Amino acid sequence: MSASSNRLYFLYHELRAVSSNYSYVMERDVFERHVDLFLQARSLGGSTYWPEITFDDGHISNYDFALPCLSSRGMAATFFITAGWTGKRAGYMGWEQVRALSAAGQQIGAHGWTHTLLTHCDDSALETELRTARLTLEDKLGITITTMSLPGGRFDQRVLSACRATGYTHVYSSIPRAEKPALPFLVGRLNTLSSAGVDSIARLLDAHSGALASLERKERWKMALKKTMGDRLYGILWAAVNRQENNEDSGETLLP
Ligand SMILES: [Zn+2]
Repeated sequence: MSASSNRLYFLYHELRAVSSNYSYVMERDVFERHVDLFLQARSLGGSTYWPEITFDDGHISNYDFALPCLSSRGMAATFFITAGWTGKRAGYMGWEQVRALSAAGQQIGAHGWTHTLLTHCDDSALETELRTARLTLEDKLGITITTMSLPGGRFDQRVLSACRATGYTHVYSSIPRAEKPALPFLVGRLNTLSSAGVDSIARLLDAHSGALASLERKERWKMALKKTMGDRLYGILWAAVNRQENNEDSGETLLP
């Protein structure tokens, strides 16, 4: 293990016991193989990135499947919770489950109040998404919340300034890139697709493989396309390509 290795943050959403074609769902067994690979990578150092696990949205499977898998391996991840959905929305965790994650040593961060894309919020809505989410999580969990992940990965300078003003020390994006151990304010992450096999994850963890650079190129193309087409058209195209189901985070960069 190396404290100086650069970090790669992986982003997951929902786990299921059976495989799904839907991009935002990962089969539990595949996730377990990822975690085993991450444990192995952490022991290597050298040109291997230090992997970190994050979950967005607060899906109930985070408690049902991710928690036992992580606990049995002594691994900690960060769970970004959509605070206004907690205990309210079917399929998502209640406060008891989020509290259990925190009590088990898992990290908790905010993922907005209603998962509205922050770039679409006026000042008052932005206040709710950032401050109400943080204060509610702190009140319900009895911990300090200092991290936030961006719904749909969307941000601009106004959003980042508001995050800073609300007291967040780190904001997690969906920009695929590695980070130095001294994390910047805006943290890059790799969004894992349901089809992301152990081999593709292993290549990404190898700094000499060129896999991350290729993903970064893809992201630049995507951003250029998004800028040309606009957010809405891009979302329609994304939904057409990733047919089965829709997700609030549609449009984030996905791993091949
Ligand atoms: Zn989300």
